[in-house]
Amino acid sequence: MLRVGFVREFFEGPVDLPGIHELTRSDSGEWREIATFAVAYLAGSPVVAEFTETEQCLLGCGENLVGCSSLFTDGSWVWRRDLGHYVGRHGVLLPSEFVERMQGFGWKPPADAVDASLARLALQTAWQVD
Ligand SMILES: [Zn+2]
Repeated sequence: MLRVGFVREFFEGPVDLPGIHELTRSDSGEWREIATFAVAYLAGSPVVAEFTETEQCLLGCGENLVGCSSLFTDGSWVWRRDLGHYVGRHGVLLPSEFVERMQGFGWKPPADAVDASLARLALQTAWQVD
C-alpha cells in the first residue's frame, strides 16, 4: 500500500514527507484533462475512515475542506479527501504509476477489491511516521 498526496503539514510531529508547497503542480491542458477523471476516481473510491474535521486549504485559496482527513483507498494507494481539491483546483500532480492504474481501470475505482484487511492496511499506511 502506498500513500499519495500526504504532506508534512498533516502530521503533528516530524515525518519524512514534502511540505504542501513542495508538491509538483501543473496547469497544462493535458494534466487538467487527466485531473478531471482522477478527481472523480479519488472521490468514488471506498472510504476507509470518515472524519468530519474541516480545515482551510493549505495552499491558501480560502476554501474550507470539509472532512479533509477522511481516508480512501483503491486497494493499492491510500489518500485523504482533500487530495481531490489539491489536484482539481491547484493542479497537484499524481504519481504516474497511480495515474496508469486509474486509467487501467477505465477511471472506475475497483471498489469490490477493497476488503477489510486492505482497509486496515490503508489506515496503517496513512498514519505511518517512520
Ligand atoms: Zn485550495
